[in-house]
Amino acid sequence: MKALAAYKTQVVDAAQALTRKGYLMATGGNVSVRVAGQSAFAITPSNFDYLKMTPGDICALDFDLNMLEGRLKPSVESAMHGAVYQARADVNAIIHTHQVYASALTLIKAPIPALFDEQARFLGRSVEIIPYAPSGTGFLKNAVAKHVKNRNNAFMMQNHGALVFGHDMERAIHNVEILEKCSLAYLLALCTERKTGKIPLAVREIAFAKLRKDQKKVEQGMMGTGGE
Ligand SMILES: [Zn+2]
Repeated sequence: MKALAAYKTQVVDAAQALTRKGYLMATGGNVSVRVAGQSAFAITPSNFDYLKMTPGDICALDFDLNMLEGRLKPSVESAMHGAVYQARADVNAIIHTHQVYASALTLIKAPIPALFDEQARFLGRSVEIIPYAPSGTGFLKNAVAKHVKNRNNAFMMQNHGALVFGHDMERAIHNVEILEKCSLAYLLALCTERKTGKIPLAVREIAFAKLRKDQKKVEQGMMGTGGE
């Protein structure tokens, strides 16, 4: 088992990479990683500048949100992250952002259908909108826990932002990037007011089946969580 320090470093590195790429802004959003073999995860603290963050600022929590290590207040969305890890054994990294284009789609309540092969392969059949609930509440946690059971790896939270998963942190970051590309392309297409084409249903299902196969491998411990 890796020491908690390695997980904390992974969270800081991811949060800073996402900030530099423009997906995390100011102190919005949060990043976490599952601690392998334990009912626990490491997560960014609440209201803290990502570029000033060090591994010592990261909080390690168990699934009951008891603090295992850390000196700062954990992210207000910690309960949401914990609920996803409990609902999805295939998810080892979670990124919540307020990325602009996906956030824009949440304002017009426009879920993203299967538009690109890569999207279906890594994000799932579609990117659904989780109905609005205030940040940091049990209402949001419960709404998220219910929706993630469909095995998709990206969701949008109404009037809020994006929620993206990966079997490891690298995949989760790539999925954030794929989501933003899809969101921008879809928004531009919607602006034309012309009919938006989707990929063929059979192609979507083949791509999703590959994603499910990967997820089952992770659940059976046949695919690494990365960085171990
Ligand atoms: Zn948020």
